[in-house]
Amino acid sequence: MVSTMTGMLGSLGTRGVRHDRIVSTPERLCPMCKRVQRLSGEERCAIHVKATTLAAHHKEFDTKQISGSSPPGVFVGRFGYPKVFVGPMVPPISGDTEILDTPEWWMGKGFDEIVDFRYSLLRGYSKANVFDAHKGGKLIETLQEVAMMTKPVDTELVLTRPPRKILDLREDSQPFGPIAPLASFQAGNSSVDDRIEKAFYDGDLPARVRQHPLIDDYRVYRYNYLDNTYVGILTPESWRFEWIEAWFEPELLATSFPDVNMATDVENTNYVSPDGHRPVMLGDSEDFRNRKTYAKPGGCYYSARLAVSEYLDTIRRQAGAIMLREIHPGYIMPVGVWNVRESLRALFKTKFEQFDSMDAAMNYVSTIFEIPKRGWIENSAMLQKAYFQRKISEFN
Ligand SMILES: [Zn+2]
Repeated sequence: MVSTMTGMLGSLGTRGVRHDRIVSTPERLCPMCKRVQRLSGEERCAIHVKATTLAAHHKEFDTKQISGSSPPGVFVGRFGYPKVFVGPMVPPISGDTEILDTPEWWMGKGFDEIVDFRYSLLRGYSKANVFDAHKGGKLIETLQEVAMMTKPVDTELVLTRPPRKILDLREDSQPFGPIAPLASFQAGNSSVDDRIEKAFYDGDLPARVRQHPLIDDYRVYRYNYLDNTYVGILTPESWRFEWIEAWFEPELLATSFPDVNMATDVENTNYVSPDGHRPVMLGDSEDFRNRKTYAKPGGCYYSARLAVSEYLDTIRRQAGAIMLREIHPGYIMPVGVWNVRESLRALFKTKFEQFDSMDAAMNYVSTIFEIPKRGWIENSAMLQKAYFQRKISEFN
């Protein structure tokens, strides 16, 4: 999903309000922290993770002029579409800043470090109409160049006022750094990388996969990260794809992704976990031909499809792919769509288990997931087809 600037920009209108010091009670943990500890291996709630990082950092940001290396990074908001906020993301340091905006390298890091990476980046923002992007303009052109670069470039930002450090109190929102309106932005030169160019054309990957020979077994892959459990099932069929995510905290889904319609896009399950959670499922699928409409789970769907088709193209095989994800309560905040892409890339690097039928594969899957086999079958178009729809050839 694209950056959510809504809340942060909304809270900018408080200029001129006098702030008194707040005295807080001595407890270090709030009720949410205690809840997170009870339900997962995490220590603190999203707000406290963010508050700690925010308090510890960014004295360097108390200025209107900032020189630093852009890691490189550019953000595009979605509030007010098609007139959205765009701008560069720059840390107040020069040199090897690449890791700050290269989620490929964040795998295995905890929430503390991920928030820390994000909060080290200042965002200078300006408003732009996305439909005018092709017309360019000085700022848009510079941003497009920066977005295509992989090596850090020296940048200089002039802001109309010192940046605000905003603690976004919504526990669910993605971590973002301090922000300020942009007066001007300049960037040096760097090379454009073909890895990024390739990613622009990931739509070609399924087409390539469709030309490879089929696998001849059922394969199950698994991976865990940040209290998400991922399972990938590859089937000996022509290319088709499904992505389903099961949210154990439906509230987190509803508040983090306002584009998702909780009434029409989401399916309820009958499963109730031992600690009382009743997960909801959000998913979509496509058959041999690519889909024409935007998938309901948005960016996660396309990230998953990219990871699968990339893998199949690498092993030069074709398969059907059912990709499933359980999101448990220890996933205290969404960290970005990179989490799905990189977790699934990691998943396909693990050793898979082989089976000779869908049911045998699903029996194994139910030893990995909390939600029983039945719960997945009820909500999966591809599993329903496999279980209940016999092929025409069987009637001949
Ligand atoms: Zn807390």
